[in-house]
Amino acid sequence: MKTDIVIIGAGPAGIFTALELIRKGSRQKITMIEKGKAIEKRKCPKSTTQKCVSCKPYCHITTGFSGAGAFSDGKLSLSYEVGGDLPSLIGEDIAQRTINYTDRIYLEFGADTHIEGLGNTQEVKEIRKCAIQAGLKLVDCPIRHLGTEKAQEIYYSIEQYLLENGVEILFGCNCKNLVIENQVCKGVHVELDGKDDVIYAQSVIAATGRRGADWLEKLCSEHGIDHYPSTVDIGVRVEVRNEIMEQVNSVLYESKLIGYPLPFKNKVRTFCQNPGGFVSQENYDNDLAVVNGHSYKNLKSGNTNLAILCSHNFSHPFNQPIAYAQKVGELTNMLGAGKILVQRFGDILEGKRTWADELSRSNLRPTLPDAVAGDITSAIPYRTMINIINFIQAVDHVVPGFASIETLLYSPELKFYSNRIKMDKDFNTSVKGLYCLGDSSGWTRGLMMASIMGVLMGRKLAEVELGIKIEEDPDISSEVPVNENNFCF
Ligand SMILES: Cc1cc2nc3c(=O)[nH]c(=O)nc-3n(C[C@H](O)[C@H](O)[C@H](O)COP(=O)(O)OP(=O)(O)OC[C@H]3O[C@@H](n4cnc5c(N)ncnc54)[C@H](O)[C@@H]3O)c2cc1C
Repeated sequence: MKTDIVIIGAGPAGIFTALELIRKGSRQKITMIEKGKAIEKRKCPKSTTQKCVSCKPYCHITTGFSGAGAFSDGKLSLSYEVGGDLPSLIGEDIAQRTINYTDRIYLEFGADTHIEGLGNTQEVKEIRKCAIQAGLKLVDCPIRHLGTEKAQEIYYSIEQYLLENGVEILFGCNCKNLVIENQVCKGVHVELDGKDDVIYAQSVIAATGRRGADWLEKLCSEHGIDHYPSTVDIGVRVEVRNEIMEQVNSVLYESKLIGYPLPFKNKVRTFCQNPGGFVSQENYDNDLAVVNGHSYKNLKSGNTNLAILCSHNFSHPFNQPIAYAQKVGELTNMLGAGKILVQRFGDILEGKRTWADELSRSNLRPTLPDAVAGDITSAIPYRTMINIINFIQAVDHVVPGFASIETLLYSPELKFYSNRIKMDKDFNTSVKGLYCLGDSSGWTRGLMMASIMGVLMGRKLAEVELGIKIEEDPDISSEVPVNENNFCF
């Protein structure tokens, strides 16, 4: 089989590559291969079974059209300072302008026009003062909140647009390997309907997301694609009642706090805050159950959840951060008999496990009911655990009640960002014809940043095809105020 451009993975990075190619008038044949299903066929059975049934062959939450974005709560971070290190590769100005441009596309496809996190200057100042006193840095970033249901509608419209404009999307198609000869990528090996096939193309774009990071790392080693290990984040998902987070939820919507707690001074940060949200479980291909959180636009719980993540880097003699985090996850899963573990903060400080009946004595009811009460401290490395405990106690100065006895800590929360692919600002890798985008490239960590990497990729390919330099719209400069801080998803 032959095509012009093959895109592996129909997440935001892959989708926006195809979308921008079409918008810029490309006539090349685009083939997207996606191991999951079309967005309208993605259904997490948990809404009826009430518990995760570990769908096979793939988890619907992370796999299928729109990737991890479909069932995410769809918070588009509108500042170049949030969502990954791509701006350091392409330049901050280009990153912000492309965010503004891409945001408009989301609006065209039906995103809510309201932006969270603007205004409230005096209240933000008060919160920042408390953060400073607690030794934490407060980061504020404007956010367009799509909401889980709305995100699915928007991505459905995009899927239909791509199909109507001639993009071939092969669902249930698993990319097994790349065809690389003499450092030139010529296509991909795929498995479709149980049969192996090869798709040849001039340009191959790997945009396989976080769950494909491991796969891509193996291919890098096999084919000599230049890359280097990056960071992995290990942490917990914290859940408290809305009353505790009321002030920051209403003023900031998402309070991003960063600290370097003693004694280790590792970077610890809050991430993905979901007011009125739900704690959720995701399953990776190797049966690793990890915790996450999301919020719906209309359905609300009485709780707020957010992640607390501790960054880990390795150099010598060990340099495999993904493998390290997986081992931590496996150990935690083992102690939870394959389920997510949950423990009360007070029990952690007392050095005891949490029992199921103790959970029902609290004001706080877990929104992930099939999480198993137990002892997360038996699985989380000492350094990580101390970082998390000290950070939670610091956050308590900004959000009184955050370090309460009943505060719930779910584990494992793992973010695999590792294996950064070496590339230039035009996304050329060490293998000609191969481009790596989005979260699996190690350069992005969020919906918007992955989307803009796709937009820029689509533009580059269109420029080469059409032999012209595509100028940006002159009126898309700073529609959204940018904060002065730095934060990465
Ligand atoms: C529960 C949850 C909530 C989130 N909430 C937010 C949020 O609010 N805001 C935010 O900015 N970010 C959020 N994120 C992160 C965001 O979803 C990702 O950063 C983003 O989706 C990355 O886009 P991507 O295109 O790089 O990869 P992905 O979206 O992961 O897409 C990759 C696609 O590639 C496919 N694939 C992988 N390997 C293969 C293969 N070998 N063959 C064929 N197909 C393959 C996968 O099935 C997947 O569909 C959330 C993530 C999760 C899981």
